[in-house]
Amino acid sequence: MVVRVLFRAVIMGPPGSGKGTISDRIRKSFELKHLSSGDILRANIKAKTEIGLLMKSCIDQGQLVPDDIMTRLILAELRNLGQNSWLLDGFPRTVRQAEALDDVYNIDTVVNLNVPFETIKERLTSRWVHLSSGRVYNTTFNPPKIPGLDDITGEPLIQRNDDTPETVTKRLKAYEMQTQPVLEYYRSKGVLEVFSGTETNKIWPHVHTFLSGKLASGNHQVTGTV
Ligand code: AMP
Repeated sequence: MVVRVLFRAVIMGPPGSGKGTISDRIRKSFELKHLSSGDILRANIKAKTEIGLLMKSCIDQGQLVPDDIMTRLILAELRNLGQNSWLLDGFPRTVRQAEALDDVYNIDTVVNLNVPFETIKERLTSRWVHLSSGRVYNTTFNPPKIPGLDDITGEPLIQRNDDTPETVTKRLKAYEMQTQPVLEYYRSKGVLEVFSGTETNKIWPHVHTFLSGKLASGNHQVTGTV
C-alpha cells in the first residue's frame, strides 16, 4: 500500500532576499514542483496567449495583474500539477488571492525570508554592468580590475535603473506595503514561518531542517491510497 502525501507550501521574500536560490534548493531537496507566478506570466507573454497579450503592459509597468485573472491562471496551473507537492512563489500577492487559494487548497506552510533591507540594498546596488557586452560585475564579490571600467574594453560600467539605491528602496517599500497584509493573513492562520538572516547559505540550513521536520511529522494532507 502506498500513501501519497501532498505538501503545499508558499515562499515569500523581497526582491534580492535569495528567494530564487532557496526555492531552487527546496525544489531539489524535497522534490516539490516549483511554480513562479512571474515565470508563468512571462511564458504567457512569450507565447502570445490572450492573457499574455492583455497583461503585458501591466507587467511592464510593474503593476499587479488583477486578482481574478491572476487567480484563475494560477489555479489552472495548480490543477495541472494534480497529485504533486508544490511550492508557490510570487503568489499570493494580495489577501484576496490568498483567500481564493485557501478556498481550494490547504496550505501547509508559508516560508518567509526576512532579510534586512540594508543588506538587500547593499547586494543589489553593488551590481554594475557593461551595456554592450552584458558583462556583469559585483563591487563586492567580482569587482572590475579598474573601478567603474569594463575589464575587456575599458569602457565605463553603468548601474541599471532597477539597481540604483533610490529605485531599490522604492521596490522594497512597495513590496513591504503589498505583502504585509498577506503575511498577517498567514500569521493569523498559524502557518507562517519566518527565517531571518543576512546570508542565503546561513538561512538555508534552517529552512531545510524546518521543512524536513514538517514533512516527517505527517502534519499535512494525505490524499489517498494506491
Ligand atoms: P515577479 O517575477 O514575481 O516579480 O513578477 C513579475 C510581474 O508579474 C509583477 O511585477 C506583476 O506585474 C506580475 N505578477 C506576478 N505575480 C503576481 C501576482 N501574484 N499578482 C499580481 N501580479 C503578479
